[in-house]
Amino acid sequence: MNKQSLKDFDPVIANAIKNEINRQESGLEMIPSENFVSIAALEALGSVVTNKYSEGYPGKRYYGGCEHIDTIEQTAIDRAKELFGAEHVNIQPLSGAPMNVAVYFGLLEPGDTILGMDLSHGGHLTHGHPVTHMAKIFNFIRYKTNQEGNIDLDNLQEMANTHKPKMILVGYSAYSRDIDYENIKRIADSVGAITMADVSHIGGLIAGGEMNNPVPLFDVVTTTTHKTLRGARGGMIMCKEKYAKKIDKAVFPGLQGGPHENNIAASAVAFKEAQEPAFKEYCKQIKKNAKALEIVFKEKEYKIMFGGTSNHLLLIDVTPKGITGKEAQQALDKAGITINKNMIPDDPRRPMDPSGIRLGTPALTTRGMKEKEMEQIAHMIDEVIMNHQNDEILEKIKQQTEALAKQFPLYPELQV
Ligand SMILES: *Cc1c(COP(=O)(O)O)cnc(C)c1O
Repeated sequence: MNKQSLKDFDPVIANAIKNEINRQESGLEMIPSENFVSIAALEALGSVVTNKYSEGYPGKRYYGGCEHIDTIEQTAIDRAKELFGAEHVNIQPLSGAPMNVAVYFGLLEPGDTILGMDLSHGGHLTHGHPVTHMAKIFNFIRYKTNQEGNIDLDNLQEMANTHKPKMILVGYSAYSRDIDYENIKRIADSVGAITMADVSHIGGLIAGGEMNNPVPLFDVVTTTTHKTLRGARGGMIMCKEKYAKKIDKAVFPGLQGGPHENNIAASAVAFKEAQEPAFKEYCKQIKKNAKALEIVFKEKEYKIMFGGTSNHLLLIDVTPKGITGKEAQQALDKAGITINKNMIPDDPRRPMDPSGIRLGTPALTTRGMKEKEMEQIAHMIDEVIMNHQNDEILEKIKQQTEALAKQFPLYPELQV
């Protein structure tokens, strides 16, 4: 076995990691799906747990030597159950995409109809977008939001009556409002459909008590562990006990082999962090920070989709400002502010150069930034957008970005 350190043995990778640490430290990360794990979670993630094969589930493994792995996985499961009030938890999905695939295959038959949220109205690729394999196997039909930015429940009921779906799926990655799970459950019950919520973006906000929790109500709830929940990259399925066997079988052996128990260990650590009072404060601040951004953007007459934000993100149509989503993303990149271009509802433009930008506050809030910094950042973003072709101004903002980021150190432990 190689006994040299990473730095001595492989400077290419060591340097790339060092540069990435510096990039994360010095920039303003506003992609709403991103976050920063704690040093404790990183330690679990980078541990020898990665060496172990553990196909199966705690107490029922296909390999020997799983006693400590069982402790890790069972602890993660127990903490997740407590955080969300879940009857059953499967923590093995390797990330969000396979987690949803496992649910579709576990509970449905090929050809079955799923009613899901339109992608341009905030839904997610893994909810049956035509470019995904799932769209070839299941019949996805899309519902949309109304003028006020809410899911159009009358329309959803009509569509449910017409299409008789086997599943109604709610969940999003670019929608800035909360969801009325009770009424969606009522509609699903009226046609005998299974209810599924994919709360990947807002899992942390739900665990922190800041958004409606579908877990007690819905048949199945999925979430990634690495977004607002602030754990390692992975997926988690929560369901009613009556679906437990089907879900577990669908994940393994249906879809995956050995679970990534080092990721599961890191998520277990994150769940312990999420049980602490400080996490509730964190979630409150995520929302306050998003509101602070909203206030400035409204003052500056930006066109905010869905009428504003009730969670951690904002979707803004930037075309009235004479710029496309792609141009805005590129200019903001030059200024050290990371956001992403995004489709707006029924966007007339193409996905690679859409009308909107999507930005969020989970990562900056982890750094300790509050409303004051958000106001400053919103003004900086506006200045970039209004001067996107002026490299001098972009350079000036980049210096402001770095100065601000420096005041909120992220991983001082990792600085060498
Ligand atoms: C991020 C996300 C996923 C996919 O997660 P990956 O880990 O990127 O595969 C699925 N659904 C929703 C709603 C998401 O936001």
